Formats: sequence, structure tokens, C-alpha cells
Amino acid sequence: MVIDGKQVAAKVRAEVAERARVMAREGIVPGLTVVRVGEDPASAIYVRGKRKACEEVGIRSAEHHLPATTTQAELMALVERLNRDPATHGILVQLPLPKHLDEGAVLDAIHPGKDADGFHPVNVGALWLGRPGPRPCTPAGVMRLLDEARVDPKGKRALVIGRSNIVGKPMAAMLLERHATVAIAHSRTEDLAGEVARADILVAAIGKAHLVKGEWVKPGSTVIDVGMNRLPDGKLCGDVEFEAASRRAAAITPVPGGVGPMTIAMLLVNTLDLARGLRA
Ligand code: NAP
Repeated sequence: MVIDGKQVAAKVRAEVAERARVMAREGIVPGLTVVRVGEDPASAIYVRGKRKACEEVGIRSAEHHLPATTTQAELMALVERLNRDPATHGILVQLPLPKHLDEGAVLDAIHPGKDADGFHPVNVGALWLGRPGPRPCTPAGVMRLLDEARVDPKGKRALVIGRSNIVGKPMAAMLLERHATVAIAHSRTEDLAGEVARADILVAAIGKAHLVKGEWVKPGSTVIDVGMNRLPDGKLCGDVEFEAASRRAAAITPVPGGVGPMTIAMLLVNTLDLARGLRA
């Protein structure tokens, strides 16, 4: 079975739109404010996509686009202002920031109760402690895909390849929370093929085209491909050899059309939850 991320994301967006309508009747208009610094072309596209998705579901979106010459102090002052702005329920600072700015310090300055990406240390702690709080959007999207595909992680061996703060680590925490037996592989893992062969649920979040060979995949397993890689011919592909892997896996996500559409959908969910006062 191919897991259709576009379809699941549409379902999530419809749920968000319905919740936003209920909130509007109560006089609450959920608001997401995006901060973008400089002229990174990919960031401009991502921000446009996020704002469009907000508008479609009844979330008010605002953008602060600052010049690449913005100082740390100016950016911190803006975040502080947004922390106090009652119309802003979620704040998202689009990464990467220009090199002269300290990303960690900026993310730490966002109020944890307005942290739309779930990257603040308080919210990372909340995730590992099993407490409520906004969750990082991409792994949260993966969990929703597993639920929709009726794959229960409980008791299963899950392998997460990648240990980034935005995907791999929170992914492992979420699978553990749902009672999977979790392993995390990375660039120093000695026998990646052997690890993959044991995994009932495989989540690849590496960023290297077709690094995971189809023949490694355990027959009957579930394969979630987070990777987004550009081939020389301009085509988008994942970290897993899709054709070969789909002959062995019971369920697999395509790239594009798998995890990708879920990330923005889960950002909308986070914004609504924050507008409802979700706190760690
Ligand atoms: P990242 O920060 O670059 O992390 C990549 C991870 O892969 C690292 O932990 C690295 O190990 C590991 N790795 C690299 N080479 C490896 C190898 N040969 N064997 C095993 N592990 C290896 O990337 P990221 O931000 O987590 O993103 C990962 C991928 O997901 C990228 O393609 C990105 O574009 C995509 N992504 C997609 C979405 C979406 O919405 N669909 C969202 C976010 C990211 P070390 O830690 O040892 O270096």
C-alpha cells in the first residue's frame, strides 16, 4: 500500500478548518506570525506555502520579512514584541537564518507557549517527559500517517535513520511514547543494512537520495521516507529506493506526496492548539 500524504494532509486541514470555525464563533481568530530574514529563495517558497495554508483554514497569518543585514538585537526585539502580541498565538522563525545570527538564541527567545514549531527547549523537554506541548511538525505528521495507515507502533521495532533536532530525535521520542522499541541510526552506524532489515517501522530522515536500498527493507514492514532530495534532472526523490522497497514493504510513503504535505498541516494543528492555550 502506498500511503497518500496528500490525502491525509487534506483531511487534517479540513479538521483544522472546522475547529477554526468553532473558535471563530467564540471570537477567537487563531494567528500565526512568520519571521523571515534575508532572501533565501527556498525560505520564501516555504513561507508562502505556510501562509496560503493558514488562509485556507481560517488562521490569520502575518509575516515580518527583515533584511539580511538585521542584527541579533533587532531580531530578538521583534520576537519579544510578538511574545507580547495577543493576536499572535504561534510564532515561527523560518530557518536557516543568515550566518551572522545565532539561531539557537532566537529560538530560545520564543515564548514556549507560542512555539509553533515545537523547537523550544522547554517543549523538547515536554516531549521527552510525556507532557503536553507543541510537537515538531514533521515527526508529528509521520505519526498521523502511521495512524491513518492503521500501523500501531506498540511493541514493534522502529528504526529512525537521522538524529537531527527537527526530525530524527523528536521522531524517536514520539515512537517511544507509542511503545515502539526504538533504535536511532546515523552516519556512524556500523551496519545500516542490518539495522534496516530488523525494522518493522523504518523512518528515513537523512537527506541522501536512495541511500536506503530496497533489498534491505524487511518484508511486510512500514517505510516512511522523510528525505527530500533533488536529483540532477531536477526531480524530487526520497532517501529510500521507492520501487524496490515498495515490493517488500506492506506500506510505504512516496516522495513527493508522502511526509512533505503533512508538515504544513501539522503546523496548522499546532497553531490552533496554541490559540487554545496549549502549554507544556
Ligand atoms: P540533517 O540535520 O542533515 O540530518 C541528517 C541525519 O542523517 C544526520 O543525523 C546524519 O548523521 C544522518 N546521516 C547522514 N548520512 C548518513 C549515512 N550515510 N548513514 C546514516 N545516517 C546518515 O537533516 P534533517 O533536517 O533531519 O532532514 C533530513 C531529510 O529530511 C532531508 O532530506 C530534509 O530535506 C528532509 N526533511 C523533510 C521535511 C518534510 O517536510 N518532508 C521536513 C524536514 C526535513 P550524523 O548526525 O551522524 O551526521
